[in-house]
Amino acid sequence: MEGSATHHPKVGVPADDGYTKFTISIHQILAQLKDKPWLRRPLALKGDPDKRSVNKYCAFHRTHGHDTANCRSWKVHLEELVRECHCKEFVAKKVVQHNEDRDAAMDSPKKVSRPDSK
Ligand SMILES: [Zn+2]
Repeated sequence: MEGSATHHPKVGVPADDGYTKFTISIHQILAQLKDKPWLRRPLALKGDPDKRSVNKYCAFHRTHGHDTANCRSWKVHLEELVRECHCKEFVAKKVVQHNEDRDAAMDSPKKVSRPDSK
């Protein structure tokens, strides 16, 4: 799928690691989306399965080696799904704190009123 990386309209709030922030864990999202027809399964993990950690399981790759929560492929695919508006319900909404902003603006007037009794 070349060319898809060139246009990404901003959807949602980017998390600290650059990925979209979700209201539930990406592991839970996968549990809810795993049967969707538009969910694309990743390519098989490269490398020797015997050398991957067997106590971690990725529900996206359906094999061991890493946790679903740490699956780069799943994170990347989630970003694509968000862009395609498939999982908007899981995207964390930006918290608008206009009340605080307004108060802060009113609390800091340019002119400081000090008693000038001279
Ligand atoms: Zn994975």
